[in-house]
Amino acid sequence: MNNKTLQQLVDKNFNNYKKGKVADYIPALAKVNPKQLGITIYDLKNNDRIQAGDVDVRFAIESMSKVPVLLLAIKDRGIKKVFETINTEPTGFAFNSIMNMEINHRKHPMNPFVNAGAIATTSLINGKDAKEKFERILAFMREICDDPDITLNKEIYQSEAKTGDINRSLAYYMKGNQMIEEVPETLEAYFKQCSVDVTATGMAKLAAVLANKGVAPWSNQRIVSEESATIVKSIMTTAGLYDESGEFSVHVGVPAKSGVGGGLMAAVPNSYGIGVFSPALDNCGNSVAGIQLLKDIVQELDLDIFK
Ligand code: GLU
Repeated sequence: MNNKTLQQLVDKNFNNYKKGKVADYIPALAKVNPKQLGITIYDLKNNDRIQAGDVDVRFAIESMSKVPVLLLAIKDRGIKKVFETINTEPTGFAFNSIMNMEINHRKHPMNPFVNAGAIATTSLINGKDAKEKFERILAFMREICDDPDITLNKEIYQSEAKTGDINRSLAYYMKGNQMIEEVPETLEAYFKQCSVDVTATGMAKLAAVLANKGVAPWSNQRIVSEESATIVKSIMTTAGLYDESGEFSVHVGVPAKSGVGGGLMAAVPNSYGIGVFSPALDNCGNSVAGIQLLKDIVQELDLDIFK
Protein backbone atom coordinates (compact mmCIF):
# COMPACT_ATOMS: atom_id res chain seq x y z
CA MET A 1 0.00 0.00 0.00
CA ASN A 2 1.21 3.53 -0.73
CA ASN A 3 0.10 7.01 0.32
CA LYS A 4 -2.16 7.29 -2.73
CA THR A 5 -4.08 4.05 -2.07
CA LEU A 6 -4.38 5.06 1.57
CA GLN A 7 -5.74 8.48 0.57
CA GLN A 8 -8.38 6.72 -1.56
CA LEU A 9 -9.49 4.69 1.46
CA VAL A 10 -9.62 7.86 3.56
CA ASP A 11 -11.76 9.55 0.88
CA LYS A 12 -14.03 6.49 0.69
CA ASN A 13 -14.62 6.49 4.46
CA PHE A 14 -14.64 10.20 5.19
CA ASN A 15 -18.43 10.64 5.13
CA ASN A 16 -18.93 7.95 7.74
CA TYR A 17 -18.55 10.73 10.29
CA LYS A 18 -22.19 11.58 9.49
CA LYS A 19 -23.29 8.33 11.18
CA GLY A 20 -21.85 9.34 14.55
CA LYS A 21 -21.49 12.33 16.82
CA VAL A 22 -18.63 13.83 18.76
CA ALA A 23 -18.43 13.14 22.50
CA ASP A 24 -20.51 15.72 24.31
CA TYR A 25 -20.05 14.89 27.98
CA ILE A 26 -17.64 17.80 28.27
CA PRO A 27 -17.77 21.10 26.33
CA ALA A 28 -14.14 20.85 25.18
CA LEU A 29 -14.89 17.64 23.28
CA ALA A 30 -18.32 18.75 22.07
CA LYS A 31 -16.80 21.57 20.00
CA VAL A 32 -14.34 19.39 18.05
CA ASN A 33 -14.95 19.47 14.28
CA PRO A 34 -16.42 16.05 13.31
CA LYS A 35 -15.27 16.40 9.69
CA GLN A 36 -11.80 14.97 10.20
CA LEU A 37 -10.21 11.65 9.34
CA GLY A 38 -6.55 10.74 9.37
CA ILE A 39 -4.45 7.60 9.48
CA THR A 40 -0.79 6.71 9.90
CA ILE A 41 0.45 3.19 9.29
CA TYR A 42 3.89 2.36 10.65
CA ASP A 43 5.29 -0.54 8.63
CA LEU A 44 7.77 -2.59 10.66
CA LYS A 45 9.17 -4.35 7.60
CA ASN A 46 10.35 -1.19 5.85
CA ASN A 47 10.69 0.81 9.08
CA ASP A 48 8.70 3.49 7.35
CA ARG A 49 5.24 4.98 7.53
CA ILE A 50 2.47 5.82 5.13
CA GLN A 51 -0.17 8.32 6.02
CA ALA A 52 -3.20 10.22 4.73
CA GLY A 53 -5.63 12.84 5.97
CA ASP A 54 -5.55 14.59 9.35
CA VAL A 55 -2.51 12.86 10.81
CA ASP A 56 -0.98 15.85 12.57
CA VAL A 57 -4.16 17.19 14.16
CA ARG A 58 -3.95 17.09 17.97
CA PHE A 59 -6.83 15.43 19.80
CA ALA A 60 -7.44 14.16 23.34
CA ILE A 61 -5.99 10.70 23.95
CA GLU A 62 -8.77 9.85 26.50
CA SER A 63 -9.12 6.09 26.97
CA MET A 64 -6.19 5.26 24.71
CA SER A 65 -4.06 6.55 27.61
CA LYS A 66 -5.00 3.34 29.43
CA VAL A 67 -2.49 1.50 27.22
CA PRO A 68 0.71 3.46 28.00
CA VAL A 69 -0.29 3.82 31.67
CA LEU A 70 -0.75 0.05 31.94
CA LEU A 71 2.68 -0.47 30.37
CA LEU A 72 4.22 2.01 32.82
CA ALA A 73 2.46 0.40 35.81
CA ILE A 74 3.89 -2.97 34.75
CA LYS A 75 7.36 -1.38 34.51
CA ASP A 76 6.92 0.19 37.95
CA ARG A 77 5.30 -2.69 39.84
CA GLY A 78 5.75 -5.83 37.77
CA ILE A 79 3.21 -8.06 36.06
CA LYS A 80 2.29 -10.00 39.21
CA LYS A 81 1.32 -6.96 41.31
CA VAL A 82 -0.60 -5.25 38.49
CA PHE A 83 -2.70 -8.29 37.70
CA GLU A 84 -3.33 -9.08 41.35
CA THR A 85 -4.98 -5.66 41.52
CA ILE A 86 -6.78 -5.71 38.17
CA ASN A 87 -8.22 -8.71 36.32
CA THR A 88 -7.97 -9.42 32.59
CA GLU A 89 -11.54 -10.43 31.87
CA PRO A 90 -13.65 -8.83 29.15
CA THR A 91 -16.93 -7.23 30.22
CA GLY A 92 -20.16 -6.49 28.45
CA PHE A 93 -20.85 -3.49 30.67
CA ALA A 94 -20.37 0.17 29.80
CA PHE A 95 -16.83 1.45 30.37
CA ASN A 96 -17.75 3.42 33.49
CA SER A 97 -20.15 0.92 35.07
CA ILE A 98 -19.72 -0.11 38.68
CA MET A 99 -20.82 -3.56 37.49
CA ASN A 100 -17.30 -3.94 36.13
CA MET A 101 -16.37 -4.72 39.73
CA GLU A 102 -19.57 -5.96 41.37
CA ILE A 103 -20.02 -9.13 39.36
CA ASN A 104 -16.54 -10.28 40.13
CA HIS A 105 -16.32 -12.42 43.23
CA ARG A 106 -12.96 -10.93 44.17
CA LYS A 107 -14.37 -7.42 43.74
CA HIS A 108 -11.44 -6.37 41.61
CA PRO A 109 -11.90 -4.34 38.44
CA MET A 110 -12.55 -6.62 35.48
CA ASN A 111 -9.77 -5.28 33.26
CA PRO A 112 -7.42 -2.27 32.91
CA PHE A 113 -9.45 -0.67 30.08
CA VAL A 114 -12.73 -0.14 31.93
CA ASN A 115 -12.56 3.00 34.03
CA ALA A 116 -12.38 1.24 37.38
CA GLY A 117 -9.45 -0.85 36.19
CA ALA A 118 -7.75 2.14 34.58
CA ILE A 119 -8.06 4.19 37.78
CA ALA A 120 -6.62 1.27 39.77
CA THR A 121 -3.79 1.06 37.22
CA THR A 122 -3.01 4.76 37.62
CA SER A 123 -2.91 4.26 41.40
CA LEU A 124 0.00 1.85 40.86
CA ILE A 125 2.19 4.40 39.05
CA ASN A 126 5.24 5.37 41.11
CA GLY A 127 5.47 8.99 42.28
CA LYS A 128 5.21 10.82 45.60
CA ASP A 129 2.15 12.82 44.55
CA ALA A 130 -0.22 13.39 41.62
CA LYS A 131 2.19 15.84 40.02
CA GLU A 132 5.08 13.41 39.98
CA LYS A 133 2.88 10.51 38.84
CA PHE A 134 1.56 12.56 35.94
CA GLU A 135 5.01 13.87 35.00
CA ARG A 136 6.24 10.29 34.76
CA ILE A 137 3.20 9.27 32.67
CA LEU A 138 3.72 12.24 30.34
CA ALA A 139 7.44 11.49 29.91
CA PHE A 140 6.63 7.86 29.15
CA MET A 141 3.94 8.81 26.60
CA ARG A 142 6.39 11.15 24.87
CA GLU A 143 8.95 8.37 24.69
CA ILE A 144 6.67 5.58 23.45
CA CYS A 145 4.87 7.83 20.93
CA ASP A 146 8.20 9.38 19.88
CA ASP A 147 6.47 12.74 20.23
CA PRO A 148 8.10 15.37 22.49
CA ASP A 149 5.20 17.76 21.84
CA ILE A 150 2.57 15.78 23.76
CA THR A 151 1.23 18.18 26.40
CA LEU A 152 -1.66 18.47 28.81
CA ASN A 153 -4.76 20.14 27.36
CA LYS A 154 -5.78 22.18 30.41
CA GLU A 155 -9.28 22.93 29.15
CA ILE A 156 -10.06 19.24 28.74
CA TYR A 157 -8.47 18.41 32.08
CA GLN A 158 -10.55 21.01 33.91
CA SER A 159 -13.76 19.71 32.33
CA GLU A 160 -12.84 16.07 33.05
CA ALA A 161 -12.16 16.93 36.67
CA LYS A 162 -15.34 18.99 36.99
CA THR A 163 -17.66 16.36 35.52
CA GLY A 164 -15.87 13.25 36.81
CA ASP A 165 -18.25 12.17 39.56
CA ILE A 166 -18.81 8.66 38.23
CA ASN A 167 -15.05 8.15 38.18
CA ARG A 168 -14.91 9.56 41.72
CA SER A 169 -17.56 7.10 42.87
CA LEU A 170 -15.69 4.18 41.27
CA ALA A 171 -12.50 5.30 43.00
CA TYR A 172 -14.10 5.64 46.43
CA TYR A 173 -15.78 2.25 45.98
CA MET A 174 -12.35 0.77 45.32
CA LYS A 175 -10.85 2.60 48.29
CA GLY A 176 -13.68 1.26 50.49
CA ASN A 177 -12.71 -2.23 49.34
CA GLN A 178 -8.97 -1.63 49.95
CA MET A 179 -8.16 -1.79 46.25
CA ILE A 180 -6.62 1.67 46.01
CA GLU A 181 -5.31 4.11 48.60
CA GLU A 182 -5.14 7.76 47.57
CA VAL A 183 -8.34 8.80 45.76
CA PRO A 184 -7.79 12.54 45.00
CA GLU A 185 -4.16 12.01 43.94
CA THR A 186 -4.99 9.05 41.75
CA LEU A 187 -7.92 10.84 40.12
CA GLU A 188 -5.90 13.97 39.41
CA ALA A 189 -3.32 11.85 37.58
CA TYR A 190 -6.07 9.84 35.83
CA PHE A 191 -7.98 12.91 34.61
CA LYS A 192 -4.71 14.42 33.38
CA GLN A 193 -3.58 11.29 31.57
CA CYS A 194 -6.89 11.32 29.63
CA SER A 195 -6.44 14.99 28.73
CA VAL A 196 -3.18 15.00 26.80
CA ASP A 197 -3.22 15.90 23.13
CA VAL A 198 -1.75 13.36 20.72
CA THR A 199 -1.74 12.75 16.95
CA ALA A 200 -2.62 9.72 14.80
CA THR A 201 1.08 9.43 13.97
CA GLY A 202 2.08 9.29 17.66
CA MET A 203 -0.52 6.60 18.31
CA ALA A 204 0.72 4.61 15.29
CA LYS A 205 4.21 4.69 16.83
CA LEU A 206 2.94 3.51 20.22
CA ALA A 207 1.10 0.68 18.46
CA ALA A 208 4.27 -0.08 16.45
CA VAL A 209 6.21 -0.62 19.69
CA LEU A 210 3.56 -3.11 20.83
CA ALA A 211 3.50 -4.79 17.41
CA ASN A 212 7.32 -5.00 17.52
CA LYS A 213 7.41 -6.91 20.85
CA GLY A 214 8.26 -3.83 22.93
CA VAL A 215 11.12 -2.42 20.84
CA ALA A 216 10.83 1.02 19.19
CA PRO A 217 11.38 0.30 15.48
CA TRP A 218 12.68 3.83 14.81
CA SER A 219 15.58 3.49 17.30
CA ASN A 220 15.84 -0.24 17.97
CA GLN A 221 15.64 0.58 21.70
CA ARG A 222 13.56 -1.63 23.95
CA ILE A 223 10.86 0.45 25.66
CA VAL A 224 8.82 -2.28 27.36
CA SER A 225 9.35 -5.99 27.91
CA GLU A 226 8.20 -8.47 25.30
CA GLU A 227 5.94 -10.09 27.89
CA SER A 228 4.14 -6.87 28.73
CA ALA A 229 3.67 -6.06 25.02
CA THR A 230 2.12 -9.50 24.53
CA ILE A 231 -0.20 -9.17 27.53
CA VAL A 232 -1.35 -5.67 26.57
CA LYS A 233 -2.09 -6.73 22.98
CA SER A 234 -4.22 -9.60 24.22
CA ILE A 235 -6.20 -7.34 26.57
CA MET A 236 -6.67 -4.93 23.65
CA THR A 237 -8.14 -7.84 21.67
CA THR A 238 -10.71 -8.73 24.32
CA ALA A 239 -11.46 -5.31 25.86
CA GLY A 240 -10.04 -2.52 23.68
CA LEU A 241 -13.27 -1.10 22.26
CA TYR A 242 -15.52 -0.77 25.30
CA ASP A 243 -18.61 -2.99 25.04
CA GLU A 244 -18.13 -3.27 21.28
CA SER A 245 -14.90 -5.27 21.70
CA GLY A 246 -16.41 -8.63 20.70
CA GLU A 247 -18.03 -7.26 17.57
CA PHE A 248 -14.81 -5.47 16.60
CA SER A 249 -12.84 -8.70 17.05
CA VAL A 250 -15.26 -10.57 14.83
CA HIS A 251 -15.48 -7.95 12.08
CA VAL A 252 -11.99 -6.43 12.12
CA GLY A 253 -9.75 -8.79 14.08
CA VAL A 254 -6.70 -6.87 15.29
CA PRO A 255 -5.66 -5.81 18.82
CA ALA A 256 -6.89 -2.22 19.15
CA LYS A 257 -7.77 0.51 21.66
CA SER A 258 -10.10 3.45 21.20
CA GLY A 259 -10.76 6.71 23.03
CA VAL A 260 -13.71 9.11 23.07
CA GLY A 261 -11.48 11.82 21.60
CA GLY A 262 -11.93 9.89 18.33
CA GLY A 263 -8.62 8.04 18.36
CA LEU A 264 -8.14 4.39 17.52
CA MET A 265 -4.88 2.50 17.49
CA ALA A 266 -4.16 -1.03 16.33
CA ALA A 267 -1.07 -3.13 16.95
CA VAL A 268 -0.79 -5.85 14.33
CA PRO A 269 1.76 -8.33 15.70
CA ASN A 270 5.11 -8.20 13.90
CA SER A 271 3.85 -6.09 11.02
CA TYR A 272 2.13 -2.74 11.62
CA GLY A 273 1.30 -0.04 14.15
CA ILE A 274 -1.75 1.94 13.05
CA GLY A 275 -3.12 5.22 14.43
CA VAL A 276 -6.47 6.60 13.25
CA PHE A 277 -8.34 9.76 14.18
CA SER A 278 -11.93 10.77 13.43
CA PRO A 279 -13.93 12.32 16.27
CA ALA A 280 -17.53 11.30 15.49
CA LEU A 281 -18.41 8.31 17.68
CA ASP A 282 -20.90 5.45 17.53
CA ASN A 283 -23.20 4.53 20.44
CA CYS A 284 -20.43 2.60 22.21
CA GLY A 285 -18.01 5.56 22.09
CA ASN A 286 -15.84 4.37 19.20
CA SER A 287 -14.88 6.37 16.11
CA VAL A 288 -17.33 5.46 13.33
CA ALA A 289 -15.17 6.42 10.36
CA GLY A 290 -12.09 5.18 12.21
CA ILE A 291 -13.45 1.65 12.59
CA GLN A 292 -14.63 1.50 8.97
CA LEU A 293 -11.28 2.74 7.67
CA LEU A 294 -9.37 0.30 9.84
CA LYS A 295 -11.61 -2.51 8.62
CA ASP A 296 -10.76 -1.62 5.00
CA ILE A 297 -7.03 -1.52 5.79
CA VAL A 298 -7.19 -4.88 7.54
CA GLN A 299 -8.94 -6.38 4.50
CA GLU A 300 -6.62 -4.74 1.98
CA LEU A 301 -3.45 -5.87 3.78
CA ASP A 302 -4.91 -9.17 5.00
CA LEU A 303 -4.18 -8.46 8.66
CA ASP A 304 -6.98 -10.21 10.57
CA ILE A 305 -5.00 -12.12 13.23
CA PHE A 306 -7.67 -14.81 13.44
CA LYS A 307 -7.44 -15.74 9.75
N1 GLU B 1 -11.82 10.60 30.53
C1 GLU B 1 -12.83 9.71 30.17
C2 GLU B 1 -13.51 9.13 31.38
O1 GLU B 1 -12.85 8.58 32.23
C3 GLU B 1 -12.31 8.62 29.31
C4 GLU B 1 -13.27 8.46 28.28
C5 GLU B 1 -12.91 7.44 27.26
O2 GLU B 1 -12.16 7.70 26.32
O3 GLU B 1 -13.46 6.36 27.40
O4 GLU B 1 -14.69 9.20 31.51
